[in-house]
Amino acid sequence: MRIEFLGTAGYHPTATRQTNCILLHAAPDAAFVLDAGTGMHRLVGKDLPARLHILLSHAHLDHVAGLTFLLDILYKQECEVTLHADQKTLDAVQNSLFNSPLFPLKWSHETQVLGAEQAIEGVRVRTRELDHPGGSRALRFDWSDGKSLAYVTDTVGNERYWPLIAGVQVLVHERNFKDGWEEIAHRSGHCTSAQVARAAQACGCRTLILTHFNPLDHDDDLLDTSLEIGAQVLVSRDEMSFVL
Ligand SMILES: [Zn+2]
Ligand SMILES: [Zn+2]
Repeated sequence: MRIEFLGTAGYHPTATRQTNCILLHAAPDAAFVLDAGTGMHRLVGKDLPARLHILLSHAHLDHVAGLTFLLDILYKQECEVTLHADQKTLDAVQNSLFNSPLFPLKWSHETQVLGAEQAIEGVRVRTRELDHPGGSRALRFDWSDGKSLAYVTDTVGNERYWPLIAGVQVLVHERNFKDGWEEIAHRSGHCTSAQVARAAQACGCRTLILTHFNPLDHDDDLLDTSLEIGAQVLVSRDEMSFVL
């Protein structure tokens, strides 16, 4: 299983980071796209598998803007697209984003409501609601060979989702704010480094990969000492790959 980080910024792109988007090579003929931030433009010109499942955490623009790039992404490709999200996120995409005058075309691909638990391409996919303005959803993937990965983004640093991530091998977690920014983190529905470290220690993951960075932070300022947790800790960069 390989994951490719296509976008790793929160809120807006920078010179080196697009907004959140992860390509997960989840099955032999299918891939999952976790969030459709502006990083999704990196799929243009890539050879796609037969089926692409796009799973959204929520409908904020830094997680859905890339859906509007699908025309170019699918150009000359034989690829079946399915969008998975909770009902209110699907409604926002179909009724607001893909609606004139914001965008000239209607959503024309399959949709599936993302519930608490389902199987997609033989992968067990579980979700749990997060505390974030307008809501967000954590995702967990378990493969039949025992590999597992969780993707948690856009959440305040609380214990609400810890049962979902318990025992996961690889935790991809937002770290929008550095330590010391707790108040604005709480107000905007995001985490600081120390809060991410607590979640990673609670779930016992082997590898913690940080993503969804505050675009105002410099790259050499992303690892607070609170993240020294006895597990491998990686700072994601755009176009970085990781093999589970
Ligand atoms: Zn976001
Ligand atoms: Zn958000």
